[in-house]
Amino acid sequence: MGTGASVSREEVNHLPQYTILGGDAKFDELKNEEGKVSLEKVEDPYLKFGGTYAGDIKDTSDFKYVSYSTLPAFTDKHKSLMAKVLTQEVFDKLKDLKSSKGYTLSNAIMTGVVTPHLGVGCTAGDEECWDIFKDLYYPIIKGWHGYDAYTQKHPVDLDPSKLRFTDEQRETFNKYVVSTRIRAARNISGFALPAGATAEERSGVEAVLKQAFSGLGGELAGTYYELGGLTEEQTKFLLERGFLFQIPTSRNLLTGAGAARSWPNNRGIFHNDAQTALCWVNEEDHCRIISMELGGDIPSVFTRFCALSNALKASAEANNTKLMWNETLGFLGTCPSNLGTGLRASVMVCLPQFNKLMEGDNHEDKELLEHVCSAYDLQPRGSAGEHSAAVGAKFDVSNKQRLGFSEVELVQKMIDGVSKVIKLEKMLEAGATPAEIRAILEAEKNGTA
Ligand code: ADP
Ligand code: MG
Repeated sequence: MGTGASVSREEVNHLPQYTILGGDAKFDELKNEEGKVSLEKVEDPYLKFGGTYAGDIKDTSDFKYVSYSTLPAFTDKHKSLMAKVLTQEVFDKLKDLKSSKGYTLSNAIMTGVVTPHLGVGCTAGDEECWDIFKDLYYPIIKGWHGYDAYTQKHPVDLDPSKLRFTDEQRETFNKYVVSTRIRAARNISGFALPAGATAEERSGVEAVLKQAFSGLGGELAGTYYELGGLTEEQTKFLLERGFLFQIPTSRNLLTGAGAARSWPNNRGIFHNDAQTALCWVNEEDHCRIISMELGGDIPSVFTRFCALSNALKASAEANNTKLMWNETLGFLGTCPSNLGTGLRASVMVCLPQFNKLMEGDNHEDKELLEHVCSAYDLQPRGSAGEHSAAVGAKFDVSNKQRLGFSEVELVQKMIDGVSKVIKLEKMLEAGATPAEIRAILEAEKNGTA
């Protein structure tokens, strides 16, 4: 197909990137009377900022990797830490390096180049990448976590008996917290990560995990569902309850990184009978483990989380493999934002007073919850996940850090921080003004509270 050639739908709809280029809808918009589209009219968003399709051994019928022989042309729309860290010097140093499984710098940066709005903007394709491309990753890790991977060591602590949860906190959480969820990423050593995996590796990961799930007993015993085998009804049921991962779109990290290749093959979800222990398979990581239940009993959710984590580790070892982990970066995975514990402990908490301020017109008051959370190293999200609205004044509040603190420390920080957020909510309820709340935060920061 030379430039200017006109093509029919049948000639192109099987090609990689057809969907990303707009699929049938875009084709209909551009087609002439003969039902053909002139290729000149189609701009490939994947090549907008440089690079070519040089042919990558990981290319599939639904995705082609872009290869960069020169520094991508970043614009002011490129928000990611990757775009900031990838200077000409770093690019030149890393551009010809490759992991033994064949993951390149081009592969690592592609999602951040083609999806400019991402915050991190890079991925790892296997565990070796974390060392080979550290000139790129370590400054990004520093920017995201404030953690110096050149000098610091990451602690692990999965002992739930160390959590402090007072009777007073339990009472408050029972009243304000609707549900609790703790999740983390776990990857199997020896297999490429989703952005770099071959179909065989993806299937190998699924086999190891299925074996692990079949060995889960007691409260953790349950069933594995292949994503491709779920009915529309089952999918809807799982999505509505926040049990299932989102289906990749052209705008998220997964697609641009090549991690959604051959979707939905070898992806799936495991859950126990009570739907309180869940595992996602081959989405952004080999496995995401999730412990969740109604109410605010944090020690119960964390205890189950630790049991799930230990069971997975034991099963990986019984299969003559192990989890990806090192003492510098903790649990390794696809995205620099999920290293370390990879843990996000969240409560769905009712905060009608903060919500009312958010619906008002005063800019400073609108940001009060964000401000309060950030003072306690917490992150607020809406009730349907990142960037969603808080329906019924329900917020998802979780720990912000993942690396440099142990699991116990992070869950403890969440418990203590959320206790303080609820205390401030109660003060607002009793008539305190937003200015008074800000003054309290300021005094705490200065150690004069
Ligand atoms: P993550 O990156 O941790 O998976 P997301 O923001 O993508 O989190 O949310 C995933 C899903 O989990 C969403 O449907 C969200 O509403 C749900 N969720 C998060 N925290 C809780 C919680 N404490 N209770 C119930 N559902 C939750
Ligand atoms: Mg998410």
